[in-house]
Amino acid sequence: MLSKAAKPLSRVFSQLHRLQSTLVIAEHNNSTLTPITRNAITAAKAIGGDVSVLVAGKKCGPISEALSKVEGVTKVLVAEKDVFNGLTPESITPLVLALQNQFKFSHIIAGASAFGKNVIPRIAAKLDVSPISEVTEVKSSDTFVRTIYAGNAVLTLKAKDPIKILTVRGTNFEAAKDGGNAAIEQCPDGDYNTNLSEFVSQELTKSDRPELTSAKVIISGGRGLKSGDNFKLLYDLADKFGAAVGASRAAVDAGYVPNDLQIGQTGKIVAPDLYIAVGISGAIQHLAGMKDSKTIVAINKDPEAPIFQVADHGLVADLFKAVPELTEKL
Ligand SMILES: Cc1cc2nc3c(=O)[nH]c(=O)nc-3n(C[C@H](O)[C@H](O)[C@H](O)COP(=O)(O)OP(=O)(O)OC[C@H]3O[C@@H](n4cnc5c(N)ncnc54)[C@H](O)[C@@H]3O)c2cc1C
Repeated sequence: MLSKAAKPLSRVFSQLHRLQSTLVIAEHNNSTLTPITRNAITAAKAIGGDVSVLVAGKKCGPISEALSKVEGVTKVLVAEKDVFNGLTPESITPLVLALQNQFKFSHIIAGASAFGKNVIPRIAAKLDVSPISEVTEVKSSDTFVRTIYAGNAVLTLKAKDPIKILTVRGTNFEAAKDGGNAAIEQCPDGDYNTNLSEFVSQELTKSDRPELTSAKVIISGGRGLKSGDNFKLLYDLADKFGAAVGASRAAVDAGYVPNDLQIGQTGKIVAPDLYIAVGISGAIQHLAGMKDSKTIVAINKDPEAPIFQVADHGLVADLFKAVPELTEKL
């Protein structure tokens, strides 16, 4: 029997739920929102409680507007200053610390992109807690799943720190959809210029192809392609699918393609609907970046190549014959 003071369990749970409040740090370039922010919002919703989104930047009004319409977002916190241009961790960290001081978030999240991997450890260090990186599943407000040993083992961890600071893997969480109507508020004013670094400029590769981490189809090439020129075979095939082109580290190291195409443990993590690996042996470090793809097709002349162990469909063939034939047929 419940004593007079005892509360029904459902009320305790709903109060615990309300105690959670998560800050998602938005990634953007002042005019376009980086898609992984929407995946991070979904992870934040899985934790439960309020979800605030921080938009720091310079003339980043369109981003705040867009995020205020995302379902599940309670509040958008905006900070517009020159110092936030380029989203350097040195300027974002003091801003997040000021917000943490005011709002006492239970969780702070960013996507596991170069930006998130850059800023989250710095915030965690300043708050003296352990960052939890590349979370693939939220079990509860303090229990998270992530992979270890280059994706070969799955770890479920219970975080005991009072504030949980995470990066989340975009490919494991759906993108949060529109359908919300959140309030937009200004962040507390302050001097966030640490003089530790200054954003000067950046040069980004321009491509008409889909971005690797959000592409539905990826055609990836390895050392078997033998030269950068031969990657044209893959671009021709990719055109038929509207696909992105990726590469193994061996292909990148050999200078066939730029390193932003690298997929794997030390490259990009992808999980498209269809991944076609061409002339790639399937080293564990490569598999770590693509084995969550829904369907994997491998083309390799060596029937013993480890890539065939993860492939749903395998073609033992010389890629220089098989790829043009496939392109022709499509
Ligand atoms: C710390 C660390 C991190 C790493 N991170 C990454 C990473 O992020 N991503 C990554 O990819 N690797 C990474 N690597 C490297 C990884 O171990 C492999 O060396 C690399 O993935 C091999 O690339 P590959 O499959 O293109 O080349 P290879 O292993 O040389 O394989 C080439 C394949 O092409 C096939 N082939 C050759 N000619 C033809 C043909 N005519 N037709 C059909 N098939 C053909 C061969 O049979 C072979 O299987 C990392 C390694 C370390 C140590």
